[in-house]
Parts: sequence; C-alpha cells; structure tokens
Amino acid sequence: CGIVGYIGPKDTKEILLKGLEKLEYRGYDSSGIAVMNEEGVHVFKEKGRIADLRKTVDFDVFANSGIGHTRWATHGVPSRTNSHPHQSASGRFTLVHNGVIENYEILKREYLQDVNFVSETDTEVIVQLIELFATEGLSTEEAFRKTLKLLKGSYALGLLDDQNQETIFVAKNKSPLLVGLGDVFNVVASDAMAMLQVTDTYVELMDKEIVIVTQDQVTIKNLEGEVISRDSYVAELDT
Ligand code: GLU
Repeated sequence: CGIVGYIGPKDTKEILLKGLEKLEYRGYDSSGIAVMNEEGVHVFKEKGRIADLRKTVDFDVFANSGIGHTRWATHGVPSRTNSHPHQSASGRFTLVHNGVIENYEILKREYLQDVNFVSETDTEVIVQLIELFATEGLSTEEAFRKTLKLLKGSYALGLLDDQNQETIFVAKNKSPLLVGLGDVFNVVASDAMAMLQVTDTYVELMDKEIVIVTQDQVTIKNLEGEVISRDSYVAELDT
C-alpha cells in the first residue's frame, strides 16, 4: 500500500497514476485518486488493479493538485466504498491514509455520534474529525493538528481542502512518507520510487510531523505548530 500527492502546473492525474503504479509492488487490493480544481474535488476509486482505476478516471478533468492511494484493507472489506480517498460529510475535505487507527471506535463515540459514516474504515474517522474541528472555527491546519493529537496508531496521510486550492496537507506517524522537491511543483509519496519520474530531491519526514505543501513551498511543523527546518538531499536511485 502507499500514498502519493502532487501540486503544480502539470497534469495531476497522470502523475498520481504513474506514482501509484510504482507503488504496486508493495501490495494492495484497491486504489483511488482525488484531484482538485475550481469546480471542486473529483474522486475516482475502484477495487482491484490500477488498470481498473484508470478505466474510471475522467481524463477531461484538468487539475493542479491531488492525492492518490493504494489500499491494503485492515478495517472493512476490500470494496469500492471502503477504498480511499474518503470524504467528510460536507465533501469539503478529502483524505488518503496508510496505516491503522487503533482508537477509531472511541473517537467515533466521543466526537462523531451525529455523523453518518459511508465506509467501514478506521480512516473515515480522521476526515470527519477534521471537518468537525473546522466547523468549530479552526483553520484547516489547526483542525488537522488537533485531530492528529487524538489519534493512536500509524498513519501516512494526504489531505485536500476544497476551500484551500493552493495547498495539500500531509502527515506521518510510523508509516513511511517523503516529500519530493521540484521547480514550481512539489510531490509527496510513501517511497522515492513513486517520485523518480519527476524529481530526485527529497526531504525526509519524522513521526508526528505535518507538512503544508504548496507548489513553491514546503513547510514542516510539529503537532504544536512550530516550524521545523530540514535540509533536502539528492538521491541516486536506479529506475
Ligand atoms: N486502515 C485503512 C483501511 O483499512 C488503511 C489501510 C492501508 O494502509 O492501505 O482502509
């Protein structure tokens, strides 16, 4: 399983799909992508191979940012409904997740009694919590950090907010995730292999960090919101 994300001027769909194909070796039972433009967020997902996902994608949708996912089901059967990305009740937030949230049932009971859940996944709790806290007045970054502080378990996350077209948000804890730096674009992925098509310059992430990614900036913060500086490195990998 794995995640990818891209923000920049190029055709986002193809970069995400190619990235997911590079992650196929990690194993998966379903896959999906979400791309964001002025019309909103467009989600395409399917059980089975990435070749099956490709058949569902509307290639006329042009977008400058997006996230993608290959799923290895842990909570909920492999199905189109349980595959990622998952969206919040209003559709504002869209999320991909690798890992396991151990306390998702407790969080559901404590905070999300009134929410209608679409999937059987542990993941959906995360995106619904972000929306809850945003509705209560927090910025997306604050709502994301507040949610992450409540989670017990492992995650590599990619988040889209349709009210914030210039940004993708990512976070990691005990699941792999890297940022790839480009010239007026940036990418994220579970594995450098998924990004080699576009860049060889990377920034490593540590557990319990979030990253605010725009096409020309990458800002790493801890869960308290303090900025962390980290050097990038050039990787020499064989394709
Ligand atoms: N626990 C999540 C699910 O079952 C994510 C699984 C994964 O890492 O792909 O949907």
